[in-house]
Formats: sequence, C-alpha cells, structure tokens
Amino acid sequence: MRSLPLVFFPPVLNCDLHCHSICSDGLLPAESVARRAAANGVDLLALTDHDSLDGLAAARAVAEEAGMAFVNGVEVSIEWGGLQIHILGLNFDAADARLNGGLAAIRSGRIERAQRMAADLERVGLYGTFDGAMALAANPSLISRSHFARHLIESGVCKDMRSVFEAYLIPGRPGYVEHRWATLADSLDWIHGAGGVAAVAHPGRYRLSRADMRRFLGEFKDRGGAAIEVMSGSHTPEHIEVYSRLAREFGFLASRGSDFHGPNESYIDLGRLPSLPDGLEPVWQAF
Ligand code: AMP
Ligand code: MN
Ligand code: MN
Ligand code: MN
Repeated sequence: MRSLPLVFFPPVLNCDLHCHSICSDGLLPAESVARRAAANGVDLLALTDHDSLDGLAAARAVAEEAGMAFVNGVEVSIEWGGLQIHILGLNFDAADARLNGGLAAIRSGRIERAQRMAADLERVGLYGTFDGAMALAANPSLISRSHFARHLIESGVCKDMRSVFEAYLIPGRPGYVEHRWATLADSLDWIHGAGGVAAVAHPGRYRLSRADMRRFLGEFKDRGGAAIEVMSGSHTPEHIEVYSRLAREFGFLASRGSDFHGPNESYIDLGRLPSLPDGLEPVWQAF
C-alpha cells in the first residue's frame, strides 16, 4: 500500500475493509461509496464487490482525492461443505490475469441461476421476478439474490430484507437454487497469486457446527489464509467474542468491515463499527 503513512494514523485506525457498490449488489456507485466512507471518517477503505473488480479504479480515484488510504478488495463466492461461503481478497494487483479469469468464471453462471430462481418462484405464484430483479441490477452479470430480494420488497411481497431471505431465498426455500461457485483452494490461489491477503468474511453467518467451523478454518489456514473478519456488520457481540478467540487460537490477523450495501438497507454505515478488540493483530499490518 504505497501511500499509507502509518505513523500519522491515530492509534486506532478506522478501517472499513468490506463494502459493496452497484458493480455487484450495492445500491451506490463506487465513487459514492468512497465519498461516503471518507465523510464518515474512514482512514483506510477496501471496496469488496462480489466477484468483480469493476469499481476499484473509480473508488481509488475518489479515495486519493479525499486523502483516504485505499486497498483493492473483492468478496469471492465459494462453496465449501455444501454451503456458500465468502472469502475476501485484500490489497492485490487488480490487473492479475488469473484472478480476473477466475472471477469471470464465477460470474458466468449467474444469469442462468437467476432464470432458474425465477422459474422456481413461479411455482409458488410469483411471476416476473427475473425481469424485476434484472431491472434493479446495474451490472447484469452480477445479478444476485439481493436484487430478487429488493424486487420482492418493492412489489409488496415481503416487508424487508430479512423476511424476504427467510421466506424465499435461503436453502430449503422456493427461490433458492444450488449453484457451482469456486472452491476454497481456487479462491486462495487467485488471491495469493495476485499478491493479496485472504480473509474469511463474516464467519458468524455460516451454518456450520463448531467442529466444522474449526475444520474450515484449519483448511483455510493450511492453504495460506491469513485473516478472519472479527468485526462485521452482521456479527452479534457473541460472534465477536467467539471469532476473537478463534483468531488468537489459529493465529489469524483480524479484519473489520461493515459489509455496507446501501443506506437504509445495511445494519451499519461505512466506518461505524466498533474498533477491533484489544490484543488482536489488525489485518492491515500485512499490507
Ligand atoms: P448471491 O451472491 O446471489 O447468492 O447473493 C448473496 C447476497 O445476498 C449477500 O452478499 C448478501 O448481500 C445478501 N444476503 C444473503 N443472505 C442474506 C440475509 N439473510 N439477509 C439479507 N441479505 C442477505
Ligand atoms: Mn451482498
Ligand atoms: Mn458476504
Ligand atoms: Mn459483503
């Protein structure tokens, strides 16, 4: 990270290393995300769109103008143990060919998946959801469950994000379809090959038993994974405690990210999470 003058930062760096723009399923353009982060007092930002690097150059340009440090980021969708898991890549070379090729391969199935989701939703009487969701996706190749969720809320089927996911979009519900994402090994090879640091995104969100979570973290570490997101917009105080302990035990660096998708939708705004708990090594020390 070329321009980060570490000595000038306050002892507690306000980093936000997880957020989204309209390049994936966020609601604001990448420039606006960076502008909002700077206005909220973020010192170090990573934009981490799902499976896409499209917003990085624009966000970086705004960050430079605002005097806010910026590292490249991405949130890679993988499948492990039958679950969709998200791996953050941070501070990598965005021009890396293998990373770009890998992300393109993950994206390529999303439109067919959306068609299958819409067909499933028709079976429970919900028509036109493909067109409805597509109309909300600025980047069609990143059509996601979030766009279906917003469409179903706008059309009055559900009242908010939480209830629409619970009713229609999680495993076992009528609009959920299996999808082939990358493997853990692929995601780590791509991130490391591009010179980046890998972090497990919002570990508290996965429906893994304690034993399976430890198995997952062990495999992630064996493959060179360096960090876990301890502070996340979707973590409860209990998650923070559990993942602080696991970070210490496994020797992981700790990351902090709001997972901001947009105003009035996300749990927490950019840069507004509490600081990392004492005694954890922040991931930005590896940048
Ligand atoms: P996809 O990549 O199409 O499977 O969509 C996953 C996205 O849906 C995540 O990145 C979140 O933004 C959103 N999401 C997943 N589960 C939930 C949930 N339970 N509540 C709200 N948003 C969710
Ligand atoms: Mn998302
Ligand atoms: Mn995620
Ligand atoms: Mn995210």
